[in-house]
Amino acid sequence: MAQKRDYYEVLGVSKSATEAEIKSAFRKKAKQYHPDLNKDNPDAAEKFKEAQEAYEVLSDESKRKMYDQYGHAGVNSSGPSGFGGFGGAGFDASDFDFGDIFDNIFGGGFGGFSSGGSSRPRATRGSDILMRINLSFEDAVYGTEMDLNIDVVEDCPECDGEGGFDKETCERCHGSGTITTEQHTILGSFVSKTTCPNCNGEGHTYKRKCSNCRGKGKVKNNKTITVNIPAGIDNGNRLRVSGKGNPGTNGGPNGDLYLEFYVDEHDYYVRDGDDIYLDVPITITEAILGCKKTIPTLYGNVKLTIPPGVDSGDKQRIRGKGIDNKNSGNKGNMYVIMKVITPKKLSKEQKKLIDALNKTDLEDSEISKFNRFTSKNN
Ligand SMILES: [Zn+2]
Ligand SMILES: [Zn+2]
Repeated sequence: MAQKRDYYEVLGVSKSATEAEIKSAFRKKAKQYHPDLNKDNPDAAEKFKEAQEAYEVLSDESKRKMYDQYGHAGVNSSGPSGFGGFGGAGFDASDFDFGDIFDNIFGGGFGGFSSGGSSRPRATRGSDILMRINLSFEDAVYGTEMDLNIDVVEDCPECDGEGGFDKETCERCHGSGTITTEQHTILGSFVSKTTCPNCNGEGHTYKRKCSNCRGKGKVKNNKTITVNIPAGIDNGNRLRVSGKGNPGTNGGPNGDLYLEFYVDEHDYYVRDGDDIYLDVPITITEAILGCKKTIPTLYGNVKLTIPPGVDSGDKQRIRGKGIDNKNSGNKGNMYVIMKVITPKKLSKEQKKLIDALNKTDLEDSEISKFNRFTSKNN
């Protein structure tokens, strides 16, 4: 085994750190190195495990005591086991589940760690599944119902999830699920409990194995589920479908299914968060004289008064006509961006009118200021 780093060093706390300090230090490390948030950092998973292992020991008063006294040998499950009454099972950094930790971090509180002492097979929650889903712009804006075809692992209907028929008490462990052995180590003799190999710690066996699930107690069913997608979903948003992830083991619950959305672009609307931008083409004369324009919004047409003298790029807000986001509860605005269209072809009559306009006095305008700058520059 490679040289292990000191657990206090791993979490970056002092030997006299309080329980709260240790918990807070681990939270920080776990967030920093969580594999889901560190896809580009290959060392993250290792660091994450290391921090998790350190936390398991330092957060447990009796394990911490053993560690302080004997170092890694005092708490290492692969070394002499049975110290201070916690069995060999239940503490192994390699069998923890990312799904567990994910929920613990984001759901608040650290409840899900293994409880030392029991040698029953540890119930482990199934891992989460991430599914990428493409949404049309409209479905994202207004929300929709979507049918998804997924494989769901459920209790076998033949054996009610038992995996077999005619339950019997395990002959080997007499129903306790554990086998007690005595170990002699340099520190003395210790009684240690190990999981019964005959019943895998269940304490019972079955006379007849269920053929439908081949003894697993679970079967995979292809199902269509209807998912309600709320209005306002944006690129990268995730929706959790509880219990539809991978199956747990030893009676642990299923993980969750996460839907991650990708939203199509719209031909005219540009979305920025919950705001919607729309380019509106106007003629030169409309820009000069002002006008009333019919604006297509997400919720039907509205009349907008454009004041005289607007420039290309000028913005006008239409309050509340952005996205009505049911996720965040925000209501966005719509912004109309003026796009003054310069005519490329003029009739004789139009040309005459524009010439006449050009000759009028523009002394106060930005153009005359710029002309003065040009002449000074010479
Ligand atoms: Zn047994
Ligand atoms: Zn079955």
